[in-house]
Amino acid sequence: MPVAKRTSAAPAKSKAEIARTKLARMGLRTDMDLVLHLPLRYEDETQIVPIREAGFMAGSPAQVEGIVATSEVQYRPRRQMVVTLRDDSGELVMRFLNFYGSQLKQLEPGTRVRARGEVRHGFFGAEMVHPTYKVVNEGAPLPQSLTPVYPAGEGLSQAYLRTAINNAMSRVDWRDTLPPPMLQALRLQPFEASVRLLHNPPPDVSEAALMDRSHPAWTRMKFDELLAQQLSLKRAQAARRAKGATPLGVTGALSRDFLAQLPFALTGAQQRVLEEIRADLRQPYPMQRLLQGDVGSGKTVVAALAAAQAIDSGCQAALMAPTEILAEQHFRKIAQWMEPLGVRVAWLTGSLKKKEKEAAQALVESGEARLVIGTHALIQEGVEFDRLGLVIVDEQHRFGVGQRLALRNKGLEQAAQTVPHQLMMSATPIPRTLAMTYYADLEVSVIDELPPGRTPIVTRTIDQNRREQVIERVHAAVLEGRQAYWVCPLIEESEALQLQTATDTHAALQEALPDLRVGLVHGRMKPAEKQLVMDGFIRNDIHVLVATTVIEVGVDVPNASLMVIEHAERFGLSQLHQLRGRVGRGSAASVCLLLYQSPLGMTAKQRLMTMRETTDGFEIARRDLEIRGPGEFLGARQSGQAMLRFADLETDQWLVDQARDVAQKLLHEAPAIVDAHLARWLGGREEFLKA
Ligand code: ADP
Ligand code: MG
Repeated sequence: MPVAKRTSAAPAKSKAEIARTKLARMGLRTDMDLVLHLPLRYEDETQIVPIREAGFMAGSPAQVEGIVATSEVQYRPRRQMVVTLRDDSGELVMRFLNFYGSQLKQLEPGTRVRARGEVRHGFFGAEMVHPTYKVVNEGAPLPQSLTPVYPAGEGLSQAYLRTAINNAMSRVDWRDTLPPPMLQALRLQPFEASVRLLHNPPPDVSEAALMDRSHPAWTRMKFDELLAQQLSLKRAQAARRAKGATPLGVTGALSRDFLAQLPFALTGAQQRVLEEIRADLRQPYPMQRLLQGDVGSGKTVVAALAAAQAIDSGCQAALMAPTEILAEQHFRKIAQWMEPLGVRVAWLTGSLKKKEKEAAQALVESGEARLVIGTHALIQEGVEFDRLGLVIVDEQHRFGVGQRLALRNKGLEQAAQTVPHQLMMSATPIPRTLAMTYYADLEVSVIDELPPGRTPIVTRTIDQNRREQVIERVHAAVLEGRQAYWVCPLIEESEALQLQTATDTHAALQEALPDLRVGLVHGRMKPAEKQLVMDGFIRNDIHVLVATTVIEVGVDVPNASLMVIEHAERFGLSQLHQLRGRVGRGSAASVCLLLYQSPLGMTAKQRLMTMRETTDGFEIARRDLEIRGPGEFLGARQSGQAMLRFADLETDQWLVDQARDVAQKLLHEAPAIVDAHLARWLGGREEFLKA
C-alpha cells in the first residue's frame, strides 16, 4: 500500500490517539482492561530518609530529599552529569549517564530535589545512578500509598499509565459480578475494594503480601481470573456439544478383521482407551479427546482402530502428523494393515508433485480413499473431503492452534453444522494442573502401560571427552546385530551450523567405524532422500543413523537399541525424553548415552539427572513444569492470551479447584452472572480459549 502523504487536509494523529494505539497494542482497549491492568510491583515513596542514613542502605532503594549543592557535566571516564545533593545529615552523588541539557539547567545549585533510587557506594561515597527524581517545594506532601509500577509497553510512561488507569477507575461499572453470600462462603474480598487497594495500597498494608501476591486482594483477582477461564472453557465445551456430528456407531467387519490380523494383542490399557474412544464416536456431537501415552505405548494402533470404526460407519478419516517422516511412517504402517482389507489409503503431503497431489486430492474428494494420511498439507486449500467423520492429530502439541482449528472446521464445509470427531494424540503428558485448566474442554484417555516384552532403557550420562569409548560401544552393539542412533547437538542459533555439525559428525563416525554403514538424516534433505535413508535404516542396511532432531517424533525402528545424544545439556527435558523414546521399542535391552560438555549449569544438571533417574513420561513432565513453568509447556504462542496473568497454576492450585466448582454451579444456576463475569474478564478475547 502506498504511504499516504501527510497533507494539510489529513490531520496528524493526535497525542491521545497515539497513546490509545500503544495501549491497544498491550491489549488495553476498554476502561475495564485498564482497571484490570494491575501493578507488577510497588515503590515506597511514602517515606523520606536522611541522606546519611541512606548511605547505610547500600543495595536497597531509598528516597531522599535535599538541596543541589553542585551539578556539572564530567567527561571522564565518559560523559555524564554529576549532581551532589545535600541535606542536614550529609551528601550523596546522583550520577546520570544519559541526560538532556535541560536537566542540567533544572538541577541548578539551590534547587530542592526529591530523589529515589538504589544506593551504592561509589568512589566518592554514597551515590545513586539514574535515580528517579523531581523538583519539589519545601514541605511538598508525600504520597499516602505505595506507588504502583505497571507492566508498560514501549513509549508508555508510568505516569501516563497511572493517569489512564485512575481515569478509567472513575468511569467503570464497579458492580461485583459475584453475589455477597457467595463471596462470604468463599471468603473472598469484594471486587472494587480489592482492585482499588492493588492500584493504591495504603501505607499500612504489608508490602510483602502485595509482592508475593498472597494478599486477599490478589486472591480475589486470581479467583476471578481463574473463574473466567473455567467459565469460558465450559461454555466452549457446551457450544461444541451443541454442534452436531455424525455418530460413528458401527464397529463392523473392518474393525474386526483389523484386530484379528494384528500380530499382537492389545494391552489392557489400549483396550480401555479404545472403549472410551468408541463410546465418544457413537455420540451425535463431536468427540474431542486427547489420547496420551508415553512414547512407545502404542497409540498408532488405537488411532487406526478409531479410523476403522469411522470407515465402518460410512465416513472418511484423516490422520495428520507434524513431520513428513512421521506421516510417511504412519502411512506405510497403516496402509500395510488396511489395504489388504480393501481400504484405500491416500497419502498427502506438501512435497508431492503437482500431479500426484491432484490425484490424491481426487481420491479424497470422490470418497474412494476412506483414509487419508499426511502432514498439514491436509488442511490446505484445495483438499475437499467426501464425508469426513474423524480427524486424528498425532503429536498434537506440535501443531499450532490455528492448524488444529482448520482441520476441525474442514467438516463444517460439507454438511452444514456438523463437525468431525477429533482425536488428538500426544506423548508429552500434560500435567494435571494444565489439563484441568487449559484443556478443560478435552476428555483425556491415558495409555499407562507399555506393550509386554520391553526392557527398560538404561540411561547414562558421560562426559564428552570420553567420546572414543562411546564410539567403541556403538561398534560393539552393531556387531551384536543391533543398530544405533547418534543425535547431533542442537545449535539453535544457526541452522547452517547445525547442518554442518551433522555432516561433520557423520563423516567422523564413518571414518571411525569403517566396517559399518553410517547414514545421515537432517531437516534440510529432500523428503525422498530422507526416506531412502530411513528405509535403509529400517532394513538394517544402515547400522548407525546420524540425525538431527528430525527423528524426535514417532520414528519406530525396534531393532535400534542404542541412542547417543551429543551435547545433551542443550536439549530440553521433553525433547530428550522423546528422543530416548526412539529406543527401547524391541525386546533387546536398550541404552541411552547422554554426552555432555562440562561444566554443567544448574538446570542442565537437573535435567540430565532427571533423565537418568526416570523413564516415566509423566514424572518427567512434572519435573519439566517445575524447571520451566507452564508457559513454555504450552508454547507461548499456542496459549496466547489464555495465559493467566495473575494466578499461578502450581501455587494457586486450591483456587483452581474452587473456581472450577463455582463455574459449574454458576453455569447451571446463574447464567446472567456468567455473562457479566466473562464480559468483565475476557471482553472480546474469548476466542483465544476455544482452540
Ligand atoms: P507411540 O505410542 O509412541 O506412537 P507406536 O504406536 O509407534 O507408539 O507403537 C510402538 C511400537 O509398539 C510399534 O512397533 C507397535 O507396532 C508396537 N505395539 C503397539 N501395541 C502393541 C501391543 N499391544 N503389543 C506389542 N506391540 C505393540
Ligand atoms: Mg506415535
